[in-house]
Amino acid sequence: MSLEPDLRFFKEDLCDCCGICFQRCPVLELPENEAKQEIKKLINGDADNSLVLQTCVTCNICDFACPQHANPYGLVLERHNETRKKQGLPFMAKFIFPNEPENMWTNTRLLMGEDERSLLHFWEENLKNPREEVLLTGFYNNLLPYVAQTSLLEELKPSIVGSDSMFGMGEDAYRIGFLEEAQRLGMLAKQKFSGMGIKKLYCFMVVEASMFTDVLPKKFGIDFDFKVELLDDWILDRLKDGKIKVVNKLNREVTVHDNCCGRYMNGKLPDTTREIMERIGCKVTEMRHSGENALCCGWAGTVPTLFGATSGNPLHTLLNLMQSLYLRLQEAEATGAKVLVVPCPGCCAFLSLIKVLTNSKMEIYLPLELVQMAAGETPVHKHDQRAWDILAVTTNLVLKWFSSPKRFIPRPIDIEKPLPRAGWVDQTRIKYFGKLYHSILIQNTVTRRIIAAAVKTMIKRYRVYLEKKKRNLLSQKVV
Ligand code: SF4
Ligand code: SF4
Ligand code: SF4
Repeated sequence: MSLEPDLRFFKEDLCDCCGICFQRCPVLELPENEAKQEIKKLINGDADNSLVLQTCVTCNICDFACPQHANPYGLVLERHNETRKKQGLPFMAKFIFPNEPENMWTNTRLLMGEDERSLLHFWEENLKNPREEVLLTGFYNNLLPYVAQTSLLEELKPSIVGSDSMFGMGEDAYRIGFLEEAQRLGMLAKQKFSGMGIKKLYCFMVVEASMFTDVLPKKFGIDFDFKVELLDDWILDRLKDGKIKVVNKLNREVTVHDNCCGRYMNGKLPDTTREIMERIGCKVTEMRHSGENALCCGWAGTVPTLFGATSGNPLHTLLNLMQSLYLRLQEAEATGAKVLVVPCPGCCAFLSLIKVLTNSKMEIYLPLELVQMAAGETPVHKHDQRAWDILAVTTNLVLKWFSSPKRFIPRPIDIEKPLPRAGWVDQTRIKYFGKLYHSILIQNTVTRRIIAAAVKTMIKRYRVYLEKKKRNLLSQKVV
């Protein structure tokens, strides 16, 4: 049941229970006394009464806030690890793990055009070719392959590789406390990439870059012998040396979402996105939580619902996900900016999801897409359409949950299993929902407004429930 000593991250001997970690947590923002209580509950392993375990989106801010460097975030992961060993893999985790037939990565492909499917195939095949320099498209670009259809990446085109089975280099497994699996995925990544003779690896995804540079080497002792940079660094360099010419300053007011887990690379906050925005003529207005205390996009709102009393109930998972995504979108809307810039394709996909569900007018772009516009190119911008595709895959999964007699039976996780594909019944249903969601029955002003009103009401009610739960948990004192 217990972790190997080298996968224990929390340093209890350094912790003086000052509570600063959970006072500074952007999700909890607890008063001092409550924060002190919460760290004690977490140390005692009191999972049922721990507000942290039932709320935490595993963003890692508390680690950077801790003056003693005791690693409280590591303790959250350790506690999740213990629980999932007792409870197994909850049904809704099928959605995110690529080795599950219901996974969102391969199932969303059913709704893609031939152009996107062949791009994904090309990137996977390219992974077998030795190269000194590669651009890794990243786990979440399996959902948005079209973003790489740009002349700006022409120079890197032969070196673009994808990896649809690596769970974001172990990031998703790590974030939900599957620590042994994250370690095994890190080792698989080492095997896969060291065989390619890489000297420099560019990452589309900030979180994958931080797995290579920070998490895998520092937490799991898995080192890589190549240099890692963000694709946005490569873009910024080309803007600086004029290889990418700005022919059209955008003159837009934007707000920037900072990635939660990848906010630090090599111990520093990367500021590339803001510099890119300045060069293409965008003015950045900051959200209430940004930079070192930025809220996660909300996708990780699924994490606390995978454990404890609500584990296995997809309604909790979906409601917590929606309210958590909406929180970030609302912060962005409150800035008055009309454009939300997200450096990570994952955040882009999920924030687009809540955008379409709430009928928000906020425009969501990756930095690359805005640079394309400044360079006189029109990006293949179909995040809204893809959001409805992902909703079709989600609808199928929720239906399966209701009809499955095995919905409460935990499952083991086998990361080395080959990628499964959906069976024909799932394929038919997903295609049907895809058609329905793109049809005029849904895509008309009245229905969209009704959906938005219903989603906002559900979120409002769920937040009342969460507030009540928070008060109850905080009133449980440490014994
Ligand atoms: S983990 Fe750090 S910040 Fe949190 S209570 Fe312990 S010493 Fe304080
Ligand atoms: S990991 Fe993030 S959400 Fe979780 S307790 Fe720490 S700061 Fe809060
Ligand atoms: S996709 Fe969301 S949860 Fe994942 S790293 Fe980005 S901000 Fe965090």
